[in-house]
Amino acid sequence: MKTAELLARLSARHPGETEYLQAVGEVMHSVEHIYDEHPEFEALAIAERLVEPDRVYTFKVPWVDDKGRVQVNTGYRVQFNNAIGPYKGGLRFHASVNLSILKFLGFEQIFKNALTTLPLGGAKGGSDFSPKGKSDGEIMRFCQAFMTELWRYIGPETDVPAGDIGVGSREIGYLYGMYRKLAHENTGVLTGKGMTYGGSLIRPEATGFGAVYFTERMLADGGDTLEGKRIAVSGFGNVAWGVALKATELGAKVITLSGPDGYVSVPEGLSREMIDYMPELRATNNDVIAPFADAFPSEASFMAGRKPWEVACDIAMPCATQNELDGVDAALLVENGMRYAAEVSNMGCTPEAIEVFAQHRIPYGPGKAVNAGGVATSGLEMSQNAMKLNWTAAEVDARLREIMGAIHASCVEYGTGADGFINYMNGANIAGFMKVARSMVEQGVL
Ligand code: GLU
Repeated sequence: MKTAELLARLSARHPGETEYLQAVGEVMHSVEHIYDEHPEFEALAIAERLVEPDRVYTFKVPWVDDKGRVQVNTGYRVQFNNAIGPYKGGLRFHASVNLSILKFLGFEQIFKNALTTLPLGGAKGGSDFSPKGKSDGEIMRFCQAFMTELWRYIGPETDVPAGDIGVGSREIGYLYGMYRKLAHENTGVLTGKGMTYGGSLIRPEATGFGAVYFTERMLADGGDTLEGKRIAVSGFGNVAWGVALKATELGAKVITLSGPDGYVSVPEGLSREMIDYMPELRATNNDVIAPFADAFPSEASFMAGRKPWEVACDIAMPCATQNELDGVDAALLVENGMRYAAEVSNMGCTPEAIEVFAQHRIPYGPGKAVNAGGVATSGLEMSQNAMKLNWTAAEVDARLREIMGAIHASCVEYGTGADGFINYMNGANIAGFMKVARSMVEQGVL
């Protein structure tokens, strides 16, 4: 594969789409050697076809705020690739959302979903609507307005959205209600649904639990366990909550959480009471972590405007957003003794950070493997909806564990070097790519 040429052409065609170009660059560099061993890939232009989304919907979302003013946002759905199954991926509501971010997320989703072992294609969507400071009524009206456009493009066998940053069970409820009204049907068209209308047990916990199951296996590869390990976590949303819950249960200490305003340091590790407080703080809709330190003044201290990567820890688990851990942060973490990096946010580490990990031979689990438990459990929710039955929490959790084990095994199979060092990033990219590429070859030029 002529990777440099492919990337140059792509950046000329999509100038300024930096996150998207970054995500494509990472995957293409990982797979170029394997690609060249398969002349049929080159002949069928698999790379060129894979890097462009199948289609992108962009639409206007007008809605009325509590003061009676008309607001206008932009809505998107990027349907990237459905070679192995219906389009699948979350919706992100955040002020930063733009086409580049949704294309990077949709692209990553293709390989992540392929790794889950389930038949799921890749997609992503969302809006530049910021839920921060909005009332419940405003959020409901926005979700309803968004769905009046989106519903035409989705369906339980074609495209199944879910949550992401800014879209949790409340938003999924409002979105589902409007879909049901417009489409006149009750189907598994969205995942992350509430338990009263077709949701799956363990879906709320799944991304965080899956991330800890994967991390546990990374540690086992190094002959290590989670017992007594200090974990630096960023974010304080649903994903960070799931990580904190499972990691603490397995004997580790979660010693930081963060928000856009700074981080809190909890040297003795989060208690169950603190973990239970996380969803409460999130529900205030203010997107700040400072009140956490006010709630637990003797155990937690707030560091305004700083990132958690300056604390000494054994494991770093970024759980907030893309490019939140850069080369400088990585160097500081390594200097302070960090031994494993498990990225839970999508593309949470910059290429420079990944380079620092590689130089110091720090095992690094990429987001598309580590956080795949979320979408995998969405796949399990789809299966339950199709069968019109519900599995128990224990059954879903057992399947999640099994899937995370399979993802880890794929990373090891494709990522172990001649010297025995496991490059989980290359492993994940190659394993996901091979499945999608083979399926594209078998189905012809489309
Ligand atoms: N937004 C999540 C992700 O990044 C979940 C997607 C889903 O469940 O469809 O994978």
